[in-house]
Amino acid sequence: MGRVLIIGAGGVGTVVAHKMASLPEVFEDIMLASRTKSKCDAIADSIGNNRVKTAQVDADNVPELVELINGFKPDLVVNVALPYQDLTIMDACLECKVSYLDTANYEPKDEAKFEYKWQWAYQERFKEAGLTAILGCGFDPGVTSIFTAHAAKHVFDEIHYLDIVDCNGGDHGKAFATNFNPEINIREVTQKGKFWENGDWVLTEPHEIHKPLNYPNIGEKESYLIYHEELESLVKNYPTIKRARFWMTFGQEYLTHLRVIQNIGMASIEPINYEGKEIVPIQFLKAVLPAPETLGDNYVGETSIGCRIRGIKDGEEKTYYIYNNCKHQDAFKETGTQAVSYTTGVPATIGAMMFLQDKWKKPGVFNVEEFNPDPFMEQLNKLGLPWNEVHDADIEL
Ligand code: NDP
Repeated sequence: MGRVLIIGAGGVGTVVAHKMASLPEVFEDIMLASRTKSKCDAIADSIGNNRVKTAQVDADNVPELVELINGFKPDLVVNVALPYQDLTIMDACLECKVSYLDTANYEPKDEAKFEYKWQWAYQERFKEAGLTAILGCGFDPGVTSIFTAHAAKHVFDEIHYLDIVDCNGGDHGKAFATNFNPEINIREVTQKGKFWENGDWVLTEPHEIHKPLNYPNIGEKESYLIYHEELESLVKNYPTIKRARFWMTFGQEYLTHLRVIQNIGMASIEPINYEGKEIVPIQFLKAVLPAPETLGDNYVGETSIGCRIRGIKDGEEKTYYIYNNCKHQDAFKETGTQAVSYTTGVPATIGAMMFLQDKWKKPGVFNVEEFNPDPFMEQLNKLGLPWNEVHDADIEL
């Protein structure tokens, strides 16, 4: 049994709070803190029974975080605010001697660039303090990394080719909306593509490489090679990988909107002066787009995310596809949010459970594939994200 502080009351925070509240034998005391306390209160009210305490915090401010953490004394801080807050929350955890978990790697606000180097630099400090930092425990990164760890442990002697495939076959009925924080999402999908090949990173123009792929229960969808953060840790932790790529599906309508947004300068992260006030175009855009947590209502269809892998077992080549499909309607029924928030919040909850049950606890900073995948995989099946496997079929890649 443990005490957990969740920071961030967006779509993902909503799911984490719901899931943790439903598991009192693991999460005895839960606090949800965020920049806007009223959002925490609304989530806590919808869960009921005073299961979730709430608080206001500016997670950019280390002394504020320290005061909150020292007051509540959690065993673990689950960071589902934005990637900008990763380092301040890690600093506060070190100061208060509390372990840490997140779902997305640090990004500086003024540079659309995400890399693990900033968080990996905390390795010695967490190790010396005897604290655990679990990085990237959402779906991708997160479950995709654990699927890879499972394949490396149980299916292959050596993984050679890894393709992570992420399809959202859902329809929210809006002309344009992003499924998670619009600012982070647009920064991610408009940057250059990048993949790993023969020991080096290969750069591509944004959306330059694409091909149709078939997704279970969804069918064929045009899939675009983009850079995604788990590739960085996976090629480091599985050095037999010769090529690692990440594919995401986008509809034509989404890409057209994205192109217009970029062409008219609304994706810019450079501050501009508007009527005497400094604003950042992409942050203004976020303010007018639908909030991800409001998309669930009429969302139909499902997501399908998994790993398609080629490698060697007992000297023979083999292929393996492991994936989860998640229906937006089911996610909404259970937590009031759509499947993208759900597929991120459930793994974060399971990661926290792994820590509290001492199954994922070691001093230092770790990506999720560095822990034992078995107990985590078991919980995915129990907590709403069951996985499927296909052996030695045509994996199209
Ligand atoms: P949202 O924008 O819906 O929620 C973010 C929340 O963080 C908001 O409630 C926001 O507060 C709060 N917040 C922002 N800045 C601060 C701050 N300085 N102090 C305190 N709280 C703050 O995002 P999502 O829920 O969609 O995403 C949450 C995280 O999950 C992101 O880091 C995202 O990158 C990650 N993610 C990971 C995925 C994965 O598979 N690994 C997939 C999807 C998302 P306010 O309400 O006041 O704005």
